[in-house]
Amino acid sequence: MTNEIYSFLSSIFIELILYNINDIISFMGKRGPKPQFTDVACPNHSCKYYGLTGEGNIVGNGTSVSRGEKVRKYICRHCGTVFNDHTGTFYYDLRKEESVIDLALKMALKGMSEEAIADVLGITPPTVRRWLDRAAESCDKVNENLMKDLDVPKIEMDEIWVIIKKK
Ligand SMILES: [Zn+2]
Repeated sequence: MTNEIYSFLSSIFIELILYNINDIISFMGKRGPKPQFTDVACPNHSCKYYGLTGEGNIVGNGTSVSRGEKVRKYICRHCGTVFNDHTGTFYYDLRKEESVIDLALKMALKGMSEEAIADVLGITPPTVRRWLDRAAESCDKVNENLMKDLDVPKIEMDEIWVIIKKK
């Protein structure tokens, strides 16, 4: 291989690496001067962009720690509303994974272990644990959703939540 071809190929290679890194960084939304969160929507009902994602109006506003958990803060550039990961419903910042989380909760409520659930869904047991913890925090909301699908009486459901919380 001549030197010219070699340097040409390595420049392409470097470009590819940089391209991927930028992709990953913007996906994670952690770096860059103005990270945009394309999967987060403004929670302000009177905002033009209320509930809409991918409009470019949501930017990161730092993070804080709540109950030992990192909370990401956002600001809507359109209406100026400041909000965070925990604003709104249980599923608020987890919208994409909603069906997967539902599955995990159903399996947990049917008595499967966290390890088994993690195995089935291809995620880690701590992730399952985190979902269950958050679901247990807002179990009334989640109950409504799940009870439509599962044939579990409310009384029994409450008992199962108590068990999950104790684990
Ligand atoms: Zn807004």
